Amino acid sequence: MISFSLTDEQKELQKLARDFAQNEIAPVAPQLDRTGEYTYAILKKAHQLGLLNLTIGDAYGGGGLGWLESCLVGEEFAAACAGVTTAANANELALTPIELAASEEQKKKFIPPIARDGGLAAFCVTEPGAGSDVASMRTRAVKRGDEYILNGAKHFITNGDVAQLLTVFASTDPEKKHRGISLFVVPADTPGITRHHMGEKMGHRASDTAEIVFEDAHVPAANLLGKEGDGFKAAMETFDRTRVGIGAAGVGVARAALEAAIKFVKERQQFAQTIANFQGVQFMLADMAMKIETARLAVWYAAWLTDEKLPYSYASAIAKAYGSDVAMQVTTDAVQLLGGYGYMADYKVEKYMRDAKLLQIYEGTNQIQRVVIAKAILRD
Ligand SMILES: Cc1cc2nc3c(=O)[nH]c(=O)nc-3n(C[C@H](O)[C@H](O)[C@H](O)COP(=O)(O)OP(=O)(O)OC[C@H]3O[C@@H](n4cnc5c(N)ncnc54)[C@H](O)[C@@H]3O)c2cc1C
Repeated sequence: MISFSLTDEQKELQKLARDFAQNEIAPVAPQLDRTGEYTYAILKKAHQLGLLNLTIGDAYGGGGLGWLESCLVGEEFAAACAGVTTAANANELALTPIELAASEEQKKKFIPPIARDGGLAAFCVTEPGAGSDVASMRTRAVKRGDEYILNGAKHFITNGDVAQLLTVFASTDPEKKHRGISLFVVPADTPGITRHHMGEKMGHRASDTAEIVFEDAHVPAANLLGKEGDGFKAAMETFDRTRVGIGAAGVGVARAALEAAIKFVKERQQFAQTIANFQGVQFMLADMAMKIETARLAVWYAAWLTDEKLPYSYASAIAKAYGSDVAMQVTTDAVQLLGGYGYMADYKVEKYMRDAKLLQIYEGTNQIQRVVIAKAILRD
């Protein structure tokens, strides 16, 4: 049986997220975008309301919910501000590999200070020389006694400068390439770690993006998750789960842009009538609506597969790529429909367009998603 209706609990969660996003995030989003200030206060309130860390196990202080619930909340947050959404989602991105690879003892030690107590974590894979090609990372972890010594640099790390806990991927055996990548939980105040804010961004300016440098950072061997060499698999499985959230953010951003465009075209008068009367405008709106509706279906389907523990990698790549491509197309059309006003910051749609771009780039660019999708269809 197929059902597209949400349960009462899911509807309540969606309403809680929508009210919070519209009342607490949307009013400050333009200011956060202008100043680039971090969103501590919003994240704190979201945590108190149970709107963060939704997919993390309740035994460790997380929401104990599924990816569908996470996507419902993510769409609402992103409709208010994609930058806040990126900051909020970074915890799930950082904690998911711990859930996947850690022992029970490690989970109980590392996850609750973040998920239960409202801390922040960051997921550290990308390096200056290793983006899409994760396996080429050069950060090294060398075992000495009951410690690993970490050296290297990560960059573009969301929450990197504000997080207290880092999930760090480093090579313990470069000759083994991806099979030599290991995963560590690293307290951010470990001596030998320096962190730098990476400067101005096009969009998502309410989120922090940092470079993290490791210079002889000593990490207890007890902070290795799983065995040496388990890191690459944990990173890929994490992306398979979390990237559906990028698709959901795309739906949220696109929805906000369509709503702004609808309001505008109903008010704007040209040629002695509202521009909503013109079929050329109506067809653009209809195309935007079709894309948003189908992107949401792709997102919900991938999230449902993940929650049902059915194969989801292919569907989540489609949800991520399609949801973010739709966000880019719909926000661009929204700017077009507002004409010159669309180009001005006061009308918000130019922010949506800037925010949409990042969704096509991070957690695996949309070309990489197409590589995943093409591999699956050629294999099958
Ligand atoms: C604001 C922001 C936040 C981020 N947050 C995090 C984070 O929290 N943690 C983290 O680890 N990383 C994070 N990233 C990094 C992000 O995931 C990478 O930027 C992304 O994976 C692309 O890597 P790259 O920038 O090195 O680009 P590259 O890999 O150098 O790619 C450059 C171009 O080449 C294309 N390309 C590369 N390989 C192929 C291929 N095989 N086929 C076709 N095209 C290809 C890419 O699609 C892209 O268009 C963040 C990035 C940004 C900008």
